[in-house]
Amino acid sequence: MKIKKIEIYAHELPVKNPPRVMSSGTVYSLDTTLVRLVAEDGTEGWGETCPVGPTYAEAHATGARAALIEMAPGLVGADLWPVALHRRMDSLLNGHHYAKAAVDIAAHDLIGKKLGIRVAELLGGGAVERVPTYYSTGVGDPDEIARIAKERMEEGYPRLQVKLGGRSVDADIATLRKVWEVIRGSGMRLAADGNRGWNTRDVLHLTRVCVDIPFVLEQPCNSIEELISIRRLIQHPIYMDENGVNLSTVITAAGTGLVDGFGMKVTRIGGLLQMRTFRDICAARNLPHTSDDAWGGDVIAAACVHLGATIRPDLNEGAWIAAPYIEGHYDKTGVRIESGHIALPKGPGLGLTIDREQFGSPVASF
Ligand SMILES: [Mg+2]
Repeated sequence: MKIKKIEIYAHELPVKNPPRVMSSGTVYSLDTTLVRLVAEDGTEGWGETCPVGPTYAEAHATGARAALIEMAPGLVGADLWPVALHRRMDSLLNGHHYAKAAVDIAAHDLIGKKLGIRVAELLGGGAVERVPTYYSTGVGDPDEIARIAKERMEEGYPRLQVKLGGRSVDADIATLRKVWEVIRGSGMRLAADGNRGWNTRDVLHLTRVCVDIPFVLEQPCNSIEELISIRRLIQHPIYMDENGVNLSTVITAAGTGLVDGFGMKVTRIGGLLQMRTFRDICAARNLPHTSDDAWGGDVIAAACVHLGATIRPDLNEGAWIAAPYIEGHYDKTGVRIESGHIALPKGPGLGLTIDREQFGSPVASF
């Protein structure tokens, strides 16, 4: 199975009820990049990568397209199987996982369609048909975030992630208190996500003051060194998110007991091939984790859900998708949330039918 044609598209995804506020910045609209791979027999596969603005991660939308354009001429004629494909991409460009991930996802979609099996089966199978998800609030007023928490709890979400950081730590503490008042006793799990936005002083204060609230503390500080410095001083479990930039970091964090779990993003770690290995490392150490991406549309959502379906159920913190926060779909059925869960798409590959007309002409074609 070889790649015959590669098309790269740019597409705008407006934020619903803008803006979206995070400790790393404020976004009104996302610039997503889609990749269409076509095999020799005409079978197509779709991939996507969508940085949440230029300040969240070391990734940005035009960087993704530049990296794809750099690699694409060397990928025409390349083997589609993921191990071979990643070796070829690594021989063409160093790093840039988030761009390579779009090609990786498209290859998984294409192989699945060609074989008549779902991507979840390509990733090892054992998939559940009803994949848990979680709701992620923005950084906001404590009463407003508590109101959202109540709504999502009543909708059946098994988990809530509250975004914090980038402001007074007292406002973050007040938010956690108000949310806990609402969800206490419901069974809804809680993550306090600093998105790298606190210093160690503020984390130590927040965790001491909130020692009675059973949240997991997600990526509180910017660096691994800061996580190491607070690790033995706090009682809340720590999850790594933004620092988990590659499998090597994951192996060290899991192997040294630095963290109790992960928030993981498909594009940050390089695609579904790496995500599958990450999942298995976590299973070996009994570490819970998510299957997310920063943002993006139906293609990236489907990739997160297929991987998320295969996570060992007792370790599954949910597949996060951006659908509730953005306008529009380019798949006819789409990946939708119902009662805090997502139905695994039924069709082969990612199970999507992409409306290519929405994207206009490709920005590059090889
Ligand atoms: Mg996070």
